[in-house]
Amino acid sequence: MYSCEEVYAVSHDIVPIPPAHRPHPRDAQGFVRVVKRVSKERGLRLTPLRTEVLKLVAEADKPVKAYDLLDLLREKHGNAAPPTVYRALDFLLANHFIHKLESINAFVSCHHPAEAHQVPFLICDTCSSAQEVCDDRVAELIEAQAMALGFRPQVQTLEVHGVCKRCLRAS
Ligand SMILES: [Zn+2]
Ligand SMILES: [Zn+2]
Repeated sequence: MYSCEEVYAVSHDIVPIPPAHRPHPRDAQGFVRVVKRVSKERGLRLTPLRTEVLKLVAEADKPVKAYDLLDLLREKHGNAAPPTVYRALDFLLANHFIHKLESINAFVSCHHPAEAHQVPFLICDTCSSAQEVCDDRVAELIEAQAMALGFRPQVQTLEVHGVCKRCLRAS
Protein backbone atom coordinates (compact mmCIF):
# COMPACT_ATOMS: atom_id res chain seq x y z
CA MET A 1 0.00 0.00 0.00
CA TYR A 2 1.21 3.50 -0.77
CA SER A 3 1.75 6.03 1.95
CA CYS A 4 0.13 9.40 1.44
CA GLU A 5 3.47 10.84 0.47
CA GLU A 6 4.03 8.16 -2.14
CA VAL A 7 0.55 8.68 -3.51
CA TYR A 8 1.30 12.38 -3.70
CA ALA A 9 4.59 11.68 -5.48
CA VAL A 10 2.88 9.41 -8.01
CA SER A 11 0.13 11.88 -8.76
CA HIS A 12 2.53 14.76 -9.12
CA ASP A 13 5.12 12.99 -11.22
CA ILE A 14 5.93 15.01 -14.28
CA VAL A 15 4.67 12.94 -17.16
CA PRO A 16 5.33 13.73 -20.80
CA ILE A 17 2.49 15.73 -22.25
CA PRO A 18 0.70 13.76 -24.98
CA PRO A 19 0.32 15.25 -28.44
CA ALA A 20 -2.25 18.02 -28.25
CA HIS A 21 -5.67 16.53 -28.48
CA ARG A 22 -7.42 17.85 -31.51
CA PRO A 23 -11.18 17.68 -31.50
CA HIS A 24 -12.23 14.92 -33.85
CA PRO A 25 -14.10 16.00 -36.94
CA ARG A 26 -17.80 16.19 -36.38
CA ASP A 27 -18.71 13.49 -38.81
CA ALA A 28 -21.97 12.01 -37.57
CA GLN A 29 -22.39 9.82 -40.65
CA GLY A 30 -18.92 8.32 -40.30
CA PHE A 31 -19.47 7.80 -36.60
CA VAL A 32 -22.76 5.96 -37.17
CA ARG A 33 -21.02 3.80 -39.80
CA VAL A 34 -18.32 2.79 -37.30
CA VAL A 35 -20.92 1.94 -34.66
CA LYS A 36 -22.87 -0.14 -37.20
CA ARG A 37 -19.74 -2.07 -38.09
CA VAL A 38 -18.78 -2.62 -34.44
CA SER A 39 -22.33 -3.71 -33.57
CA LYS A 40 -22.29 -6.26 -36.38
CA GLU A 41 -18.92 -7.60 -35.25
CA ARG A 42 -20.19 -7.97 -31.68
CA GLY A 43 -23.59 -9.33 -32.67
CA LEU A 44 -25.46 -6.37 -31.15
CA ARG A 45 -28.93 -5.43 -32.26
CA LEU A 46 -28.66 -1.85 -33.46
CA THR A 47 -32.34 -1.26 -34.17
CA PRO A 48 -33.53 1.67 -36.33
CA LEU A 49 -34.56 3.61 -33.21
CA ARG A 50 -31.22 3.02 -31.50
CA THR A 51 -29.49 4.13 -34.70
CA GLU A 52 -31.66 7.22 -34.82
CA VAL A 53 -30.91 8.16 -31.21
CA LEU A 54 -27.21 7.58 -31.85
CA LYS A 55 -27.33 9.81 -34.92
CA LEU A 56 -29.08 12.60 -33.01
CA VAL A 57 -26.46 12.47 -30.25
CA ALA A 58 -23.66 12.42 -32.83
CA GLU A 59 -25.09 15.31 -34.84
CA ALA A 60 -25.52 17.56 -31.82
CA ASP A 61 -22.64 19.99 -31.44
CA LYS A 62 -22.91 19.77 -27.65
CA PRO A 63 -24.11 17.29 -25.06
CA VAL A 64 -27.82 16.60 -25.37
CA LYS A 65 -30.34 15.85 -22.67
CA ALA A 66 -32.79 12.98 -22.88
CA TYR A 67 -35.80 15.25 -23.20
CA ASP A 68 -34.16 17.15 -26.07
CA LEU A 69 -33.72 13.83 -27.85
CA LEU A 70 -37.33 13.01 -27.18
CA ASP A 71 -38.41 16.32 -28.75
CA LEU A 72 -36.21 15.69 -31.80
CA LEU A 73 -37.59 12.17 -32.21
CA ARG A 74 -41.15 13.38 -31.88
CA GLU A 75 -40.58 15.80 -34.73
CA LYS A 76 -39.99 12.76 -36.90
CA HIS A 77 -42.05 10.02 -35.33
CA GLY A 78 -44.72 11.80 -33.33
CA ASN A 79 -45.14 8.91 -30.96
CA ALA A 80 -41.71 8.36 -29.41
CA ALA A 81 -42.28 7.43 -25.75
CA PRO A 82 -39.78 8.36 -23.02
CA PRO A 83 -39.05 4.72 -21.98
CA THR A 84 -38.11 3.86 -25.57
CA VAL A 85 -35.59 6.70 -25.67
CA TYR A 86 -34.16 5.77 -22.27
CA ARG A 87 -33.80 2.15 -23.32
CA ALA A 88 -32.01 3.19 -26.51
CA LEU A 89 -29.68 5.43 -24.48
CA ASP A 90 -29.01 2.60 -22.01
CA PHE A 91 -28.08 0.30 -24.87
CA LEU A 92 -25.73 2.88 -26.39
CA LEU A 93 -24.16 3.61 -23.00
CA ALA A 94 -23.74 -0.05 -22.09
CA ASN A 95 -21.89 -0.61 -25.35
CA HIS A 96 -19.71 2.50 -24.95
CA PHE A 97 -20.99 4.22 -28.09
CA ILE A 98 -21.93 7.31 -26.10
CA HIS A 99 -20.96 8.81 -22.75
CA LYS A 100 -23.20 10.23 -20.09
CA LEU A 101 -22.00 13.44 -18.45
CA GLU A 102 -23.39 13.05 -14.96
CA SER A 103 -22.80 16.62 -13.81
CA ILE A 104 -25.01 18.06 -16.55
CA ASN A 105 -27.15 14.96 -17.12
CA ALA A 106 -26.48 14.91 -20.86
CA PHE A 107 -25.08 12.59 -23.50
CA VAL A 108 -22.26 12.86 -26.02
CA SER A 109 -21.06 10.46 -28.68
CA CYS A 110 -17.77 8.71 -27.99
CA HIS A 111 -14.76 9.50 -30.15
CA HIS A 112 -13.63 5.89 -29.90
CA PRO A 113 -16.76 3.78 -30.22
CA ALA A 114 -14.77 0.64 -30.97
CA GLU A 115 -13.12 0.51 -27.55
CA ALA A 116 -14.42 0.67 -24.00
CA HIS A 117 -12.74 3.43 -22.08
CA GLN A 118 -13.24 5.89 -19.26
CA VAL A 119 -11.94 9.34 -19.98
CA PRO A 120 -12.20 12.70 -18.30
CA PHE A 121 -14.34 15.36 -19.90
CA LEU A 122 -13.79 19.07 -20.10
CA ILE A 123 -17.16 20.80 -19.98
CA CYS A 124 -17.49 24.47 -20.90
CA ASP A 125 -19.95 26.27 -18.65
CA THR A 126 -20.27 29.09 -21.18
CA CYS A 127 -21.21 27.22 -24.37
CA SER A 128 -21.96 23.78 -22.84
CA SER A 129 -19.56 22.02 -25.18
CA ALA A 130 -17.75 18.93 -23.93
CA GLN A 131 -14.45 17.44 -24.97
CA GLU A 132 -12.92 14.07 -24.19
CA VAL A 133 -9.43 14.08 -22.77
CA CYS A 134 -8.10 11.24 -24.88
CA ASP A 135 -5.40 10.04 -22.52
CA ASP A 136 -5.82 6.69 -20.80
CA ARG A 137 -3.20 7.56 -18.22
CA VAL A 138 -5.67 9.54 -16.13
CA ALA A 139 -8.03 6.58 -15.75
CA GLU A 140 -5.10 4.21 -15.25
CA LEU A 141 -3.62 6.40 -12.53
CA ILE A 142 -6.89 6.58 -10.62
CA GLU A 143 -7.40 2.84 -11.03
CA ALA A 144 -3.88 2.11 -9.74
CA GLN A 145 -4.29 4.40 -6.76
CA ALA A 146 -7.70 2.96 -5.92
CA MET A 147 -6.30 -0.59 -6.07
CA ALA A 148 -3.36 0.49 -3.91
CA LEU A 149 -5.89 1.61 -1.32
CA GLY A 150 -7.70 -1.69 -1.55
CA PHE A 151 -10.62 -0.13 -3.41
CA ARG A 152 -12.13 -1.82 -6.42
CA PRO A 153 -13.26 0.88 -8.87
CA GLN A 154 -16.20 0.20 -11.16
CA VAL A 155 -17.17 3.50 -12.69
CA GLN A 156 -15.17 6.68 -13.06
CA THR A 157 -16.89 9.98 -13.56
CA LEU A 158 -14.35 12.68 -14.25
CA GLU A 159 -15.82 15.95 -15.36
CA VAL A 160 -13.89 19.19 -15.28
CA HIS A 161 -15.91 22.38 -15.59
CA GLY A 162 -14.50 25.60 -16.94
CA VAL A 163 -14.33 27.76 -20.05
CA CYS A 164 -13.27 26.34 -23.44
CA LYS A 165 -10.66 27.84 -25.76
CA ARG A 166 -13.24 29.25 -28.14
CA CYS A 167 -15.20 30.98 -25.40
CA LEU A 168 -12.01 32.31 -23.82
CA ARG A 169 -10.99 33.80 -27.15
CA ALA A 170 -14.41 35.34 -27.63
CA SER A 171 -14.48 36.94 -24.18
ZN1 LIG B 1 -15.17 8.14 -25.47
ZN1 LIG C 1 -17.19 27.22 -24.60
